[in-house]
Amino acid sequence: MHIHNLGFPRIGAKRELKFSLEKYWRGEITQAEFLTSCKQLRQQNWQLQHDAGVEWLPVGDFAHYDHVLNTTLMLGLAPERFVANDSNALDLEFRVARGQAPSGCQCAASDMTKWFNTNYHYIVPELNENLLASLTPVNAQSLISQCEEAKQVSDKTKAVLLGPISYLYLSVCQDEEKLSLLPALLVRYRALLEQLSLAGITWLQLDEPVLGLELDEIWQDAFTSAYQQLDKGRLKLLLTSYFASIDHHVELIKPLDFDGLHIDLVTQEKDVTAIVNALPEHWVISLGVINGRNIWKTDLVSVYQKLQPLYRQLNDRLWIAPSCSLLHSPVDLQQESKLDAEFKSWLAFAKQKCEELTLLKYALEHENSDEITLYSNAALARCVSKRIHNESVRTRINGLSHDDFHRKQSFLERKVVQQKALNLPILPTTTIGSFPQTGDIREVRAKWRRKEITEKQYQSLIEEEIRNTIIKQEDIGLDVLVHGEAERNDMVEYFGELLEGVAFTQFAWVQSYGSRCVKPPIIFGDVSRKQAMTISWINYAQSLTDRPVKAMLTGPITILCWSFVRDDISREDVAKQIALAISDEVVDLVDNGTQIIQIDEPAIREGMPIKQSEWQSYLSWATAAFCLSAAKAPAKTQIHSHMCYSEFNDILPAIIALDADVLTVETTRSNMALLDAFDEQAYPNDLGPGVYDIHTPNVPEVDWMVDLLEKAQKYIPIERLWVNPDCGLKTRSWQETKLALENMVTAVKKLRSAY
Ligand code: GLN
Ligand code: ZN
Repeated sequence: MHIHNLGFPRIGAKRELKFSLEKYWRGEITQAEFLTSCKQLRQQNWQLQHDAGVEWLPVGDFAHYDHVLNTTLMLGLAPERFVANDSNALDLEFRVARGQAPSGCQCAASDMTKWFNTNYHYIVPELNENLLASLTPVNAQSLISQCEEAKQVSDKTKAVLLGPISYLYLSVCQDEEKLSLLPALLVRYRALLEQLSLAGITWLQLDEPVLGLELDEIWQDAFTSAYQQLDKGRLKLLLTSYFASIDHHVELIKPLDFDGLHIDLVTQEKDVTAIVNALPEHWVISLGVINGRNIWKTDLVSVYQKLQPLYRQLNDRLWIAPSCSLLHSPVDLQQESKLDAEFKSWLAFAKQKCEELTLLKYALEHENSDEITLYSNAALARCVSKRIHNESVRTRINGLSHDDFHRKQSFLERKVVQQKALNLPILPTTTIGSFPQTGDIREVRAKWRRKEITEKQYQSLIEEEIRNTIIKQEDIGLDVLVHGEAERNDMVEYFGELLEGVAFTQFAWVQSYGSRCVKPPIIFGDVSRKQAMTISWINYAQSLTDRPVKAMLTGPITILCWSFVRDDISREDVAKQIALAISDEVVDLVDNGTQIIQIDEPAIREGMPIKQSEWQSYLSWATAAFCLSAAKAPAKTQIHSHMCYSEFNDILPAIIALDADVLTVETTRSNMALLDAFDEQAYPNDLGPGVYDIHTPNVPEVDWMVDLLEKAQKYIPIERLWVNPDCGLKTRSWQETKLALENMVTAVKKLRSAY
């Protein structure tokens, strides 16, 4: 039996990659210094895995920015607009990723999007016929030389590469049908494999995560023909899937010339024996038995019991590994010094997950489960610990009935009551919540955290910021104001820290994209609200103005999706618990006289399961959780929600089911095209399609916004239209923000006078 790993977190236990990337971008270190730091980091990562007992070390999982981008560069497929003006390989990479690099001219960066249902973002390949036909050579040298580097740590190395079908599936093509580009893409993949084979590489892990999807027949045929055509030379190919089961594609896979298959045994419980028996007898079977995406210690005894018969059957054909690349897990638990011993005993980060595999291998080979029994006690103890159980939360959940998930009155009835109470003009203007987060505000929060200022000082500094924000909004002439979110570092962290059942670490960072890392909260127990979370700030803001101030809450699905979540109860149940806590806040806000409450749900879409056939059941519990959080609001309280993406076509019924009185969405980048979705299926409630993109510093012109709003009226009657930017303004400067919002208000005035 062999232990291998699909990939390791590249950022380093101390986020070394982040810091050296940013230093390089700022020009504080040279290119050579940057590259040396990356090389050290790779060595460090391999050494760590090796010491933890990993036998086949992954090579090619490291990336300066992103591994999909690496694949693009190896294939010689950087979009033409970048290649034209550059000869510096590293800066070409950064220009594709972020539009700029220390050398060369600026360029519009390639798009970035979420990697399946994770919080990792990859750089989307941009393909077209000309690019694929161009003469830019395929070059596997970076991967080959990293394999050489890794030999300093171990002889057993396994190169990792994103396979052609997933690569194509995840790319965007301008004009052509994607699959028409496959033959040309395969020419490049063949060249890549040839180089790897000639370099003497033995194992190649070909990642094909799209196998978890329900591929239609055309893509299935493409898969078959692609792998029939790839010449593997002397390489051994480990076909690798993760994030979902692939039972439905076994027939597709088995006739092809692979040497092994990796399957994720954690995400979905499936019949492994049936798969094993279906596959050729010489194949290696790699079983992903340790969850690569959470932070919980594994109950190794139960894994052992499952694996024992398979080990007897497969012997050295059996490989064991984490379910997916450990890219999605933090690096090393040992660094955490502030967690209490009990809590810490429940956790395992990337390094510990590798060690778990070693323990498991020992137990299987020696038929001795003593050590893993001892080890697993903590994992088992977590599930029965008093700390994770809260009877009153359970009682509330059990007592929920149909009415708790629905507002009492219909939208039409609510609209009348709200209009009477709020008396808003046609095309009401508002913002999405946050206002510019200046260095000063960050400093105030940091000082407060470090206890360098008192609670009282902190409160008055934040209040001062709120006051300024309210005054500015009044001056600009907005109709519905917000307090500006100055007290929040992050929309999930802020609430997480105030909820019971949620914990925070010091160093459990995971890469989100490039140098950006996130430190997700850990939802470990039953969630409840300890105390009011937003009331005092909102009350203060409302006391300063006669215009309505909209309170800001983060919705249950977003809190769920952006956290590490307990695995002893279903995600649906966790979502319900969070929803109840948010609902308590809604009730308090209403009692305090708040007339408008926004419950942000930017993450609903990313929580979607990999398989389309499972979307419906997810969407129904996800929307139910949102509704549960909002349902107690009386008719007079206007509930807003916000989502910052623009693909609604396939999930509009779920969006309608949220039954928010007002929904604000991103639309600018699609030039209101997304509203097509709303048109066909008739969105019934109020809608605020964003009229300008907050991701750029450009100030939008009045006429341009007038134009967009006129377009929007073709889809949504003016009586149901709101006017707002695409998203929160926290990353912008006050100067731009003020000009942009003033133009927005002017645009609305023009339209109102014509109405
Ligand atoms: N209310 C949040 C803000 O304005 C919403 C952020 C988001 O959609 N991601 O910052
Ligand atoms: Zn947004």
